[in-house]
Amino acid sequence: MKKIVVLVDRVGRSIDDSAFELATAARSAAGASVVGLVAGHDLASYGAELARWFDEVVLVDDARLAVPDGDAWTAALAPLLRAEAADCVLAAHTNHGLDYAPALSVRLDLALVSDCLSVDLSGPAVTAVRPVHGGKVHARVAVDPAAGGCLVTLRPGAVRAGACPERGGTVRNAALPAGFAPRRRFVETVAGDAGEVDITQADRLVGVGRGIEDAESLDLVRDLAAALGAEVACSRPVVDKQWLPKSRQVGTSGKSVKPKLYVALGISGSFQHLGGLKGDPFVVAVNKDPKAPIFSVADVGIVGDLYEVVPALTAKLQSLKG
Ligand SMILES: Cc1cc2nc3c(=O)[nH]c(=O)nc-3n(C[C@H](O)[C@H](O)[C@H](O)COP(=O)(O)OP(=O)(O)OC[C@H]3O[C@@H](n4cnc5c(N)ncnc54)[C@H](O)[C@@H]3O)c2cc1C
Repeated sequence: MKKIVVLVDRVGRSIDDSAFELATAARSAAGASVVGLVAGHDLASYGAELARWFDEVVLVDDARLAVPDGDAWTAALAPLLRAEAADCVLAAHTNHGLDYAPALSVRLDLALVSDCLSVDLSGPAVTAVRPVHGGKVHARVAVDPAAGGCLVTLRPGAVRAGACPERGGTVRNAALPAGFAPRRRFVETVAGDAGEVDITQADRLVGVGRGIEDAESLDLVRDLAAALGAEVACSRPVVDKQWLPKSRQVGTSGKSVKPKLYVALGISGSFQHLGGLKGDPFVVAVNKDPKAPIFSVADVGIVGDLYEVVPALTAKLQSLKG
């Protein structure tokens, strides 16, 4: 029977959504045993939730793992992964995953396929698709089954988490290996500046992208956000132009947000932007290009000029509110 191990990331006190995306990807290997491996401190409460997603959950719970640190993770997980001898190890292509995945692959002599958009575990060879040349070309990579396993990192958001499989898995604790001695020393956590508003806490967001032509036009966006009771967010080009502060940028190099409603105005839907959109919100997209990738994730898509659509939407909302 095939064995797939998923390295589970956490964000603060919560399990990162990437864990459920990776568990969903792991299910493409029909009949495989899927193990979730979590390192950290104070993990007791995670076991029950993760057991619904995995056949087995292994918790490596130790105060020395309280701060996410790739060096400590590598030292803690390498012996366990060696013992698991999985056909494939899946990790999230997050800052944290980038910190430990290459080191783990070297330590365990596993083929590393990083930054993938999808992975197929159903055949004898693990295959994955990864962008190359800045995303202009997608390469399909196959790992030789004789290679002795591989480690694949998947971009957050590349795979949508499916329904929880209700696996009813077992939960066990594993100790740190003898002689555990990470070489980095944690000094302090410096909290990032939340900015004038914390978009990560907003239930409704109106995101604006390069489709907006100038800073003055942002008033259209602010009016729609006010009518919806939403905060204004944006894609990176809007920050690069200094029309909105970085604290409002959604994406892999911006904030991860989890609104219930996301209205995307003049945003194409790059993976870097969508990578920051978590929790499966209801997405309304306005874009004049019917082929814009944002429409593939939108629940409601409006093909049109935002300069016409947005004032009309705002006026309608205002009239509905009376
Ligand atoms: C390492 C790295 C990290 C990155 N991190 C982030 C990140 O965190 N967040 C992020 O957003 N990006 C990030 N990017 C940039 C990302 O690759 C894209 O370039 C960016 O998301 C595109 O922003 P956009 O959709 O606003 O612009 P574009 O891709 O230019 O899209 C503009 C869209 O507006 C539409 N449009 C134009 N005019 C109108 C109109 N009048 N009405 C309606 N629609 C209109 C167009 O059809 C188009 O689809 C990152 C890039 C790199 C390399």
